[in-house]
Amino acid sequence: MQIPSLRDFIARHRRLFVLTGAGVSTDSGIADYRDANGEWKRSPPVSFQAFMGSAATRQRYWARSLVGWRRLRRARPNAAHGALARLERQGRMELLVTQNVDGLHQAAGSVQVIDLHGRLDQVQCMDCHDLLPRDELQAELLRRNPGWNGLLARPAPDGDADLDGLPFGEFAVPPCARCGGLLKPDVVFFGESVPRPRVDTAMQRLERADAVLVVGSSLMVYSGYRFVQAAAQSGKPVAAINLGRTRADGLLTLKVSEPCALALAAV
Ligand SMILES: [Zn+2]
Repeated sequence: MQIPSLRDFIARHRRLFVLTGAGVSTDSGIADYRDANGEWKRSPPVSFQAFMGSAATRQRYWARSLVGWRRLRRARPNAAHGALARLERQGRMELLVTQNVDGLHQAAGSVQVIDLHGRLDQVQCMDCHDLLPRDELQAELLRRNPGWNGLLARPAPDGDADLDGLPFGEFAVPPCARCGGLLKPDVVFFGESVPRPRVDTAMQRLERADAVLVVGSSLMVYSGYRFVQAAAQSGKPVAAINLGRTRADGLLTLKVSEPCALALAAV
């Protein structure tokens, strides 16, 4: 049984560097952070280049996000978030780095958190770099597009096909209220890199940790994998709780193939 080994791993290492991914939030009803702007898993996530380069892409993105955000902001932390927050309160955690953009670790009470890929509850102006709460933009999106609220909220039998039929070209995307610039969710899109200072801070904290615990991530994205790589290179043990294979399986000291909430609740 892997749970006693996990309990032992956590007991033996007093300064854990925890790295979390989408698997931590599935029990909160969030399928995958990559499509958290809408709940249609089948359409590919928007790339940074497409978002920045095409007004039509931004219309489609914000129209879908208008609906997706309502669902996301209702999500609540689950037992896995709670267990990790308790570990921090017990002084057992050096840092929690998350690849999720849902803010649920902070909602559960975690304080020492780096949101590697940013947060969906904030919007950034790409021109004047002003930050505004997503809720504020939501109000503006609804004000400018009153007809879209009910229209998109109806569950579609075949989400993507129905959505493709909608007149996205008529969707009004608000500009930055301060400078008229281009607004973008404050998250790292595909094709965009994680801001360097964020990576550097996490790497410095990794040096102070004595072990790494990966929770709910397959580590397929390099932005997270690099921390496990660095830990392995400096001889720090790495444990992972994940259903299914991870990119770092060959580097792991311990692998627990259980749902995150179940495994963490047991320790
Ligand atoms: Zn601006």
